[in-house]
Amino acid sequence: VTSRRLPSIAFAALLACWLPAISLSGQQQSPARGFNVLLVTLDTVRADRLGPWGYEPARTPTLDALAASGIVWLDAVAPTPITLPSHASLMTGLAPPKHGVRDNGSFRLAEEKRTLAETLAGAGYETGSFVGSFVLDRRFGLGQGFATYDDDLGGGVAASGAFAERSAEAVTEGALEWLAGREGADAPFFLWVHYFDAHSPYGPPAAFRTGDPYDGEIAYVDAQLARLVSHLEASGQRDRTLIVVTADHGESLGEHGEPSHSIFIYESTLHIPLILSSPGLYSEPRVVEDRVAGLVDVAPTLLSLLGVDGLPDADGVDLLAAPADPDRAVYIESLAPQFGHGWAPLTGLRRHRDKFIQAPEPEYYDLGERPLEMRNRADEAEAARDLSARLATLTAGDLVAARREVSAEERAKLESLGYVVGASISVPSGADPKERMPYYNQFFEAFALAEEGRLSEAAEILEASLRHERGSAKAWELAATIFVRLSRFEDAAAAIVKAVDLSPNADRLVKLAQMRAMQGDLPEAQRLLDAAEALDPEDGSVWMIRGNLAAAGGDFARAIECFEAAARVDPSRVGEMARSRIEIARSRLQR
Ligand SMILES: [Zn+2]
Repeated sequence: VTSRRLPSIAFAALLACWLPAISLSGQQQSPARGFNVLLVTLDTVRADRLGPWGYEPARTPTLDALAASGIVWLDAVAPTPITLPSHASLMTGLAPPKHGVRDNGSFRLAEEKRTLAETLAGAGYETGSFVGSFVLDRRFGLGQGFATYDDDLGGGVAASGAFAERSAEAVTEGALEWLAGREGADAPFFLWVHYFDAHSPYGPPAAFRTGDPYDGEIAYVDAQLARLVSHLEASGQRDRTLIVVTADHGESLGEHGEPSHSIFIYESTLHIPLILSSPGLYSEPRVVEDRVAGLVDVAPTLLSLLGVDGLPDADGVDLLAAPADPDRAVYIESLAPQFGHGWAPLTGLRRHRDKFIQAPEPEYYDLGERPLEMRNRADEAEAARDLSARLATLTAGDLVAARREVSAEERAKLESLGYVVGASISVPSGADPKERMPYYNQFFEAFALAEEGRLSEAAEILEASLRHERGSAKAWELAATIFVRLSRFEDAAAAIVKAVDLSPNADRLVKLAQMRAMQGDLPEAQRLLDAAEALDPEDGSVWMIRGNLAAAGGDFARAIECFEAAARVDPSRVGEMARSRIEIARSRLQR
């Protein structure tokens, strides 16, 4: 399988030894002026599962070839193991505290933040993007600067929830069509392609099902990426195109007890690939192994290569100009433990050789040690105290500001609608996430079982978890969903009330409204829907439920109005379902 492998990292590293230790500086100014840019983000792909990082079973010939005609940063890190905030850092060059996007779903990149796409559009670039997941839907703000932002997942999102995705093949088709449509254009392009496939559950297409299924997903994505590269070659654009391949985060695969990603900030989920390929500029492979690179560095590096001014406030640096600095520390965080489960947030600083993590029990690791991050040296290392102090000045006041349960304004809105927030006896535990992994794994297993339709087993495991983990809004919300499907409506209502009390959001208020409607309390259901709309006017499920309630009451004219509103405010999630309901309501109206 590996016989056609282009120079692997071992070979590339050999070259790097006798090439002058990567002379990145002293090149001509902006050597890629006027070049196209293809930026590819591989969701949930950890570096050490790829050919260029020396992984033997890898089936990544496209990445291997890109690495052979460009620069590989062996030590690249994501700022956070969460899709939306990590992409926001990639697009702005800012660390999460500065761009303000701290989690999926409930945050949006503010209009006033300047992005790479806006900067390149301003410099005359044609901009297009094709994303593979609802997590990056335009409502979350990453469409800024893209003339085309294709986040159409083809309906059905409402049924499959926030992790609705479209395949790498569909994403590639869209991108190829876009490229073909602008053939012969004078302006250069900036194209961002996002492949979500490696996200769990791992289910590669038949041709990629041999071996480990996670590797299979990556092999499938690699094969789709090959189609884009081939198109650039066939159309004569390859030599004038910078191709950057990276990831928003990795995947734990059970390491440190974490099944997937989003909670911990260990290397499993933060060590990402970073390849910059351009045969027109780099005919020899180069491997950078003496410094840390951050996702925040990508935009400043690209702009510098292209000779475009912009993003002066970036936290990232131009990787091709900055000298290796062993003391450089990249900020890392995950606030998902806090937002989702009421545990302590995790923040940290990552240098090339070591790493500090702030937690109730702080952690410090020497990254030269194997196995990685198994021996916590926080008590014995002077460096741990230094990094801890640096981190404290960086995050001073910020974590309080980032607590995003409900803003004062939202609270006032909710209260004006008669909904009392925070009357709960449920309290976030503030626990150290690493101590909660047994319960988190039960939550995760229950989620997977429920996806497979094994509801009774899911409920049993989740209820065992909830006896210990009473402050996790996500766990209560999942319980409510499972209880409904088991027709345990009283339990479902009690569970969703807990989730709303711990952390109200539009989704949860809609679910509670459905509960109240089923229990016959229609006025309360309507009040909750109003509150949900106030929190998120783009949540189409609010209008879907209003339509359903109107139809159930025989008012089909009103139902049609509501479904039309649903399709208008939230086409990507509920558009298709709304249109089919309108058909049904119309036929009932005509009877
Ligand atoms: Zn992701």
